[in-house]
Amino acid sequence: MDLGITGRKAIVCAASKGLGRACAMSLATNGVDLVMNARGADALEATAAEIRERTGRAVTTVACDITTAEGRKQVLDAAGEVDILVNNAGGPPPGDFREWGEAEWIKAVTANMITPIELIRAVVDGMGERRFGRIVNITSSAVKAPIAELGLSNGARTGLTGFVAGTARAVAPTGVTINNILPGRFDTDRLRGNFEFNAKKTGRDPAEIAKNAAAAIPARRFGDPHEFGELCAFLCSVQAGYITGQNLLIDGGSFPGTM
Ligand code: NAP
Repeated sequence: MDLGITGRKAIVCAASKGLGRACAMSLATNGVDLVMNARGADALEATAAEIRERTGRAVTTVACDITTAEGRKQVLDAAGEVDILVNNAGGPPPGDFREWGEAEWIKAVTANMITPIELIRAVVDGMGERRFGRIVNITSSAVKAPIAELGLSNGARTGLTGFVAGTARAVAPTGVTINNILPGRFDTDRLRGNFEFNAKKTGRDPAEIAKNAAAAIPARRFGDPHEFGELCAFLCSVQAGYITGQNLLIDGGSFPGTM
Protein backbone atom coordinates (compact mmCIF):
# COMPACT_ATOMS: atom_id res chain seq x y z
CA MET A 1 0.00 0.00 0.00
CA ASP A 2 1.31 3.45 -0.89
CA LEU A 3 0.87 5.46 2.32
CA GLY A 4 0.93 8.75 0.42
CA ILE A 5 3.66 10.31 2.59
CA THR A 6 6.67 10.26 0.26
CA GLY A 7 8.64 13.47 0.69
CA ARG A 8 7.07 14.32 4.05
CA LYS A 9 9.34 15.20 7.00
CA ALA A 10 9.15 13.65 10.47
CA ILE A 11 10.67 14.21 13.87
CA VAL A 12 11.10 10.87 15.63
CA CYS A 13 12.17 11.25 19.26
CA ALA A 14 14.19 8.70 21.23
CA ALA A 15 14.84 6.74 18.06
CA SER A 16 18.27 5.09 18.22
CA LYS A 17 16.86 1.83 19.59
CA GLY A 18 13.69 -0.11 20.22
CA LEU A 19 10.27 1.20 19.29
CA GLY A 20 11.40 4.69 18.26
CA ARG A 21 14.00 3.20 15.94
CA ALA A 22 11.36 0.94 14.39
CA CYS A 23 9.04 3.92 13.78
CA ALA A 24 11.89 5.83 12.13
CA MET A 25 12.75 2.88 9.90
CA SER A 26 9.13 2.29 8.82
CA LEU A 27 8.53 5.97 8.08
CA ALA A 28 11.73 6.24 6.01
CA THR A 29 10.82 3.05 4.15
CA ASN A 30 7.62 4.83 3.20
CA GLY A 31 9.50 7.83 1.79
CA VAL A 32 9.70 10.13 4.82
CA ASP A 33 12.81 12.23 5.60
CA LEU A 34 13.76 12.18 9.26
CA VAL A 35 15.09 14.24 12.12
CA MET A 36 16.02 11.63 14.71
CA ASN A 37 17.02 12.06 18.31
CA ALA A 38 18.53 10.12 21.22
CA ARG A 39 21.03 11.04 23.94
CA GLY A 40 23.82 8.64 22.98
CA ALA A 41 25.46 9.83 19.74
CA ASP A 42 27.08 6.51 18.76
CA ALA A 43 23.92 4.40 18.61
CA LEU A 44 22.03 7.30 17.03
CA GLU A 45 24.60 7.70 14.25
CA ALA A 46 24.71 3.94 13.64
CA THR A 47 20.91 3.76 13.33
CA ALA A 48 20.77 6.83 11.10
CA ALA A 49 23.44 5.36 8.80
CA GLU A 50 21.51 2.11 8.54
CA ILE A 51 18.26 3.94 7.70
CA ARG A 52 19.98 6.08 5.05
CA GLU A 53 21.54 3.01 3.50
CA ARG A 54 18.34 0.97 3.48
CA THR A 55 15.93 3.70 2.36
CA GLY A 56 17.94 6.46 0.67
CA ARG A 57 16.05 9.09 2.68
CA ALA A 58 17.60 12.19 4.28
CA VAL A 59 18.23 11.61 7.99
CA THR A 60 19.37 14.39 10.35
CA THR A 61 20.54 13.41 13.83
CA VAL A 62 20.34 15.47 17.01
CA ALA A 63 22.04 13.88 20.01
CA CYS A 64 20.37 15.41 23.07
CA ASP A 65 18.00 14.76 25.92
CA ILE A 66 14.49 15.33 24.57
CA THR A 67 13.12 15.75 28.10
CA THR A 68 14.90 19.10 28.48
CA ALA A 69 13.79 22.43 27.01
CA GLU A 70 17.25 22.86 25.37
CA GLY A 71 17.04 19.40 23.82
CA ARG A 72 13.59 20.03 22.39
CA LYS A 73 14.75 23.39 20.95
CA GLN A 74 17.71 21.73 19.25
CA VAL A 75 15.47 19.12 17.63
CA LEU A 76 12.83 21.65 16.56
CA ASP A 77 15.48 24.03 15.16
CA ALA A 78 17.08 21.20 13.16
CA ALA A 79 13.73 20.13 11.76
CA GLY A 80 12.04 23.39 10.72
CA GLU A 81 8.59 22.68 9.27
CA VAL A 82 7.47 19.11 9.91
CA ASP A 83 4.53 17.01 8.79
CA ILE A 84 4.88 14.14 11.28
CA LEU A 85 5.88 14.02 14.95
CA VAL A 86 6.52 10.77 16.81
CA ASN A 87 6.82 11.43 20.53
CA ASN A 88 8.87 9.00 22.57
CA ALA A 89 11.28 9.01 25.51
CA GLY A 90 12.65 6.45 27.88
CA GLY A 91 10.11 5.18 30.37
CA PRO A 92 10.39 5.88 34.11
CA PRO A 93 12.05 3.19 36.24
CA PRO A 94 9.96 0.53 37.96
CA GLY A 95 9.83 0.50 41.75
CA ASP A 96 7.71 0.82 44.85
CA PHE A 97 5.58 3.97 45.11
CA ARG A 98 6.77 4.45 48.70
CA GLU A 99 10.23 5.23 47.33
CA TRP A 100 9.07 7.97 44.94
CA GLY A 101 9.04 11.56 46.17
CA GLU A 102 8.32 14.81 44.37
CA ALA A 103 11.60 14.73 42.42
CA GLU A 104 10.88 11.29 40.92
CA TRP A 105 7.35 12.34 39.98
CA ILE A 106 8.50 15.57 38.37
CA LYS A 107 11.06 13.65 36.32
CA ALA A 108 8.48 11.12 35.11
CA VAL A 109 5.82 13.73 34.34
CA THR A 110 8.41 15.88 32.51
CA ALA A 111 9.61 12.97 30.36
CA ASN A 112 6.34 11.23 29.55
CA MET A 113 3.74 13.99 29.71
CA ILE A 114 5.17 17.52 29.48
CA THR A 115 7.80 16.72 26.81
CA PRO A 116 5.30 15.35 24.27
CA ILE A 117 2.84 18.15 25.09
CA GLU A 118 5.55 20.78 24.52
CA LEU A 119 6.52 19.24 21.18
CA ILE A 120 2.88 19.02 20.09
CA ARG A 121 2.43 22.69 21.05
CA ALA A 122 5.47 23.64 18.96
CA VAL A 123 4.39 21.92 15.73
CA VAL A 124 0.62 21.53 15.69
CA ASP A 125 -0.42 24.96 14.45
CA GLY A 126 2.14 24.92 11.59
CA MET A 127 0.81 21.53 10.54
CA GLY A 128 -2.73 22.91 10.67
CA GLU A 129 -1.82 25.91 8.49
CA ARG A 130 -0.44 23.47 5.90
CA ARG A 131 -3.58 21.30 6.29
CA PHE A 132 -1.71 18.07 7.03
CA GLY A 133 -0.21 16.69 10.21
CA ARG A 134 0.24 13.37 11.95
CA ILE A 135 1.24 13.10 15.60
CA VAL A 136 1.81 9.71 17.21
CA ASN A 137 2.67 9.33 20.89
CA ILE A 138 4.29 6.14 22.12
CA THR A 139 2.65 5.50 25.49
CA SER A 140 2.05 2.10 27.09
CA SER A 141 -0.51 -0.64 27.61
CA ALA A 142 -0.16 0.44 31.26
CA VAL A 143 -2.47 3.36 30.43
CA LYS A 144 -5.27 0.82 29.89
CA ALA A 145 -4.19 -1.85 32.38
CA PRO A 146 -1.88 -0.36 35.03
CA ILE A 147 1.17 -2.27 36.24
CA ALA A 148 1.80 -1.49 39.95
CA GLU A 149 5.60 -1.39 39.79
CA LEU A 150 5.40 1.03 36.83
CA GLY A 151 3.36 3.56 38.83
CA LEU A 152 5.38 6.53 37.57
CA SER A 153 4.64 5.48 34.01
CA ASN A 154 0.94 4.76 34.72
CA GLY A 155 0.48 8.22 36.18
CA ALA A 156 2.49 10.36 33.75
CA ARG A 157 1.25 8.68 30.59
CA THR A 158 -2.38 8.79 31.66
CA GLY A 159 -1.98 12.56 32.04
CA LEU A 160 -0.74 12.77 28.44
CA THR A 161 -3.63 10.57 27.31
CA GLY A 162 -6.16 12.95 28.84
CA PHE A 163 -4.52 15.93 27.14
CA VAL A 164 -4.48 14.19 23.76
CA ALA A 165 -8.14 13.17 24.06
CA GLY A 166 -9.24 16.80 24.17
CA THR A 167 -6.61 18.32 21.89
CA ALA A 168 -7.00 15.78 19.07
CA ARG A 169 -10.65 16.83 18.69
CA ALA A 170 -9.77 20.52 18.92
CA VAL A 171 -7.27 20.34 16.02
CA ALA A 172 -9.17 17.78 13.91
CA PRO A 173 -10.71 20.46 11.63
CA THR A 174 -7.20 21.46 10.50
CA GLY A 175 -6.26 18.07 9.03
CA VAL A 176 -3.99 17.12 11.93
CA THR A 177 -4.49 13.79 13.70
CA ILE A 178 -3.11 12.89 17.12
CA ASN A 179 -3.13 9.27 18.29
CA ASN A 180 -1.42 7.18 20.96
CA ILE A 181 0.02 3.72 20.40
CA LEU A 182 0.02 1.57 23.53
CA PRO A 183 2.69 -1.14 23.37
CA GLY A 184 2.31 -4.32 25.35
CA ARG A 185 5.53 -6.30 25.65
CA PHE A 186 8.01 -5.71 22.82
CA ASP A 187 11.41 -7.28 22.57
CA THR A 188 13.61 -4.24 23.31
CA ASP A 189 16.31 -3.21 25.81
CA ARG A 190 13.61 -1.63 27.96
CA LEU A 191 11.70 -4.93 28.32
CA ARG A 192 14.88 -6.84 29.09
CA GLY A 193 15.70 -4.19 31.73
CA ASN A 194 12.34 -4.79 33.41
CA PHE A 195 13.06 -8.53 33.59
CA GLU A 196 16.47 -7.81 35.15
CA PHE A 197 14.73 -5.61 37.75
CA ASN A 198 12.28 -8.39 38.62
CA ALA A 199 15.09 -10.97 38.68
CA LYS A 200 17.05 -8.91 41.24
CA LYS A 201 13.92 -8.38 43.31
CA THR A 202 12.92 -12.05 43.39
CA GLY A 203 16.26 -13.86 43.00
CA ARG A 204 14.94 -15.65 39.90
CA ASP A 205 16.63 -16.15 36.54
CA PRO A 206 15.76 -13.31 34.09
CA ALA A 207 15.56 -15.78 31.17
CA GLU A 208 13.00 -17.82 33.10
CA ILE A 209 11.00 -14.67 33.89
CA ALA A 210 11.05 -13.72 30.19
CA LYS A 211 9.94 -17.21 29.13
CA ASN A 212 7.01 -17.18 31.55
CA ALA A 213 6.06 -13.65 30.51
CA ALA A 214 5.97 -14.62 26.82
CA ALA A 215 3.94 -17.74 27.62
CA ALA A 216 1.32 -15.60 29.37
CA ILE A 217 0.66 -13.54 26.23
CA PRO A 218 -2.12 -14.96 24.01
CA ALA A 219 0.24 -14.65 20.99
CA ARG A 220 2.86 -16.61 23.05
CA ARG A 221 5.64 -14.20 22.13
CA PHE A 222 6.84 -10.65 22.58
CA GLY A 223 6.13 -8.09 19.89
CA ASP A 224 8.66 -7.41 17.17
CA PRO A 225 9.50 -3.66 17.09
CA HIS A 226 9.02 -3.78 13.30
CA GLU A 227 5.32 -4.58 13.86
CA PHE A 228 5.10 -1.46 16.01
CA GLY A 229 6.89 0.72 13.45
CA GLU A 230 4.54 -0.37 10.69
CA LEU A 231 1.48 0.58 12.75
CA CYS A 232 3.05 3.97 13.42
CA ALA A 233 3.70 4.51 9.70
CA PHE A 234 0.10 3.59 8.90
CA LEU A 235 -1.21 6.10 11.46
CA CYS A 236 0.92 8.71 9.66
CA SER A 237 -0.52 7.81 6.28
CA VAL A 238 -2.97 9.72 4.14
CA GLN A 239 -5.36 6.77 4.53
CA ALA A 240 -5.43 7.21 8.33
CA GLY A 241 -6.72 10.77 8.11
CA TYR A 242 -10.04 9.87 9.76
CA ILE A 243 -8.42 8.18 12.79
CA THR A 244 -7.79 10.65 15.60
CA GLY A 245 -7.85 10.81 19.39
CA GLN A 246 -7.46 7.05 19.57
CA ASN A 247 -5.47 4.74 21.83
CA LEU A 248 -4.32 1.77 19.80
CA LEU A 249 -3.27 -1.23 21.84
CA ILE A 250 -0.67 -3.51 20.22
CA ASP A 251 -0.13 -6.29 22.72
CA GLY A 252 -0.58 -9.77 21.19
CA GLY A 253 -4.03 -10.02 22.80
CA SER A 254 -2.84 -9.45 26.38
CA PHE A 255 -5.54 -7.00 27.43
CA PRO A 256 -8.45 -9.27 28.29
CA GLY A 257 -11.35 -6.85 27.69
CA THR A 258 -13.98 -7.03 24.94
CA MET A 259 -12.82 -3.60 23.73
P1 NAP B 1 14.56 1.16 24.52
O1 NAP B 1 14.73 -0.04 23.67
O2 NAP B 1 15.26 1.23 25.83
O3 NAP B 1 14.93 2.43 23.63
C1 NAP B 1 14.81 3.72 24.17
C2 NAP B 1 15.30 4.74 23.16
O4 NAP B 1 15.00 6.03 23.65
C3 NAP B 1 16.81 4.72 22.93
O5 NAP B 1 17.07 5.08 21.61
C4 NAP B 1 17.29 5.78 23.90
O6 NAP B 1 18.57 6.26 23.52
C5 NAP B 1 16.19 6.82 23.74
N1 NAP B 1 16.01 7.72 24.87
C6 NAP B 1 15.75 7.36 26.15
N2 NAP B 1 15.63 8.45 26.91
C7 NAP B 1 15.82 9.52 26.10
C8 NAP B 1 15.84 10.93 26.31
N3 NAP B 1 15.62 11.45 27.52
N4 NAP B 1 16.05 11.75 25.24
C9 NAP B 1 16.26 11.22 24.02
N5 NAP B 1 16.26 9.90 23.77
C10 NAP B 1 16.04 9.06 24.80
O7 NAP B 1 13.02 1.39 24.91
P2 NAP B 1 11.68 0.91 24.13
O8 NAP B 1 11.32 -0.45 24.59
O9 NAP B 1 11.79 1.19 22.68
O10 NAP B 1 10.61 1.87 24.80
C11 NAP B 1 10.21 3.09 24.23
C12 NAP B 1 9.09 3.65 25.10
O11 NAP B 1 7.99 2.74 25.10
C13 NAP B 1 9.50 3.83 26.57
O12 NAP B 1 8.90 4.98 27.09
C14 NAP B 1 8.93 2.59 27.22
O13 NAP B 1 8.69 2.78 28.59
C15 NAP B 1 7.65 2.40 26.42
N6 NAP B 1 7.16 1.01 26.50
C16 NAP B 1 7.90 -0.01 26.03
C17 NAP B 1 7.41 -1.31 26.13
C18 NAP B 1 8.19 -2.50 25.64
O14 NAP B 1 7.74 -3.64 25.84
N7 NAP B 1 9.32 -2.34 25.01
C19 NAP B 1 6.14 -1.53 26.69
C20 NAP B 1 5.41 -0.44 27.14
C21 NAP B 1 5.92 0.84 27.04
P3 NAP B 1 19.54 6.97 24.59
O15 NAP B 1 19.51 6.12 25.82
O16 NAP B 1 20.88 7.00 23.90
O17 NAP B 1 18.99 8.34 24.81
